[in-house]
Amino acid sequence: MLIDGAALTRLSLLKAIRKNGPVSRVELAEMLGLSKGTVSEITAELIQSGFVSEEGNTSAERGRPRVLLRIQAGNFAVVGANLDPFGFIELCIVDLAGGLISKQSSPLPQLGSIECLMSWIGDVVDCFIDDTPIERARVASVSVAHPGHVESSTGLLHWFPSLPGHEIPFAQVVSQRIGIPVIIENDVDCLARAEHWFGDSTTADFAIVYQGLSVGLAQYSDGLPRTGSSGVNSEFGHVKTDYSEDARSCFCGGRGCVTSYSSYRGLFISNASGEADLDHRIEEVIEQAPAIIEAARSGDPAKIKACATAGHHLGLAIANFINTVDPRQILVRTSDPNMPDLIRPSFEAAIRQHTLEPLLRRTAIEIGSAQPDWRWKGTAALALEQAYLGTAVRQARRTSRNAASAARPSR
Ligand SMILES: [Zn+2]
Repeated sequence: MLIDGAALTRLSLLKAIRKNGPVSRVELAEMLGLSKGTVSEITAELIQSGFVSEEGNTSAERGRPRVLLRIQAGNFAVVGANLDPFGFIELCIVDLAGGLISKQSSPLPQLGSIECLMSWIGDVVDCFIDDTPIERARVASVSVAHPGHVESSTGLLHWFPSLPGHEIPFAQVVSQRIGIPVIIENDVDCLARAEHWFGDSTTADFAIVYQGLSVGLAQYSDGLPRTGSSGVNSEFGHVKTDYSEDARSCFCGGRGCVTSYSSYRGLFISNASGEADLDHRIEEVIEQAPAIIEAARSGDPAKIKACATAGHHLGLAIANFINTVDPRQILVRTSDPNMPDLIRPSFEAAIRQHTLEPLLRRTAIEIGSAQPDWRWKGTAALALEQAYLGTAVRQARRTSRNAASAARPSR
């Protein structure tokens, strides 16, 4: 994450107040390892900007009563928009503490270009905000998540699965259209945020692997999303797990990528007994993969084998990741709730066989299905993160000041 230290401290403080509030300044300083002076200085600004409120003298402890802090949930809201690979957009609006105000889902229309997509998202978000009870001026940030290759820190879209174009200033264009700061992110990075902000995970250091239409991975380190040095999301789905001559071809142009074995695409290819041209058959993949999983659950040997192949290659890729990165915890999350049991035996066997023992012993690995509501929670968390960092709110104030001065008649 490419953010300055003061903004990160602001983010940490607000996250701690959200999670533990009402909470005192002394407790916050101890929790975060900050000086009391730093906590007092930042919380004064947060109270002044309407993010935090004080509760008077309510400490139950003996001695001098302490003032407690809590998030001013109703003062601002944020909007999330998640474009899933199955052809739907899910919109949500949450208060400043992450409480859901409203959400809606609708199918994506046929859009012929990234320009049309950006324009359509702007319109949909505009209408959505107008339909909520929240004043537009109180929407601090809008987040957009989708599959593809994204440079979140600059708002650049490098690659979108179904539309041509690269290095598109996606966040800037949508932000100018709706007049609210916009942040974009890869959807698996939003899954990590959903776990961190809304899940049971107690660790601040983990990697999360998603298995659905594709395979992806995102990381958290010291309580913050971790990207590469250029700020672009990783493409774990294209880690190679098959170097043989008949390795499966991948939509990236390469061969032997884990996504060609372990994703819905992989199940479809396994079921087609080998190579399958998927370029124009994504609808078939989306339709057939759940049926393959269901048939495997009912005991169909060929379908069980397809799931075992998926688990084996996912285990290989994650073993390579553990050997390279030494992560503390890996959460494997599947799109289909039946998938964990079907891939577990071959997945665990591959992990045991290919991970170096001292690293395997230190890595907690957990397989389960993704929370069904992770898409809205992930985008809500992304937009909240932006608001908590402060950059979004400063941008919003600048935009509204500029709009006000442009509207003022000149003398
Ligand atoms: Zn690939």
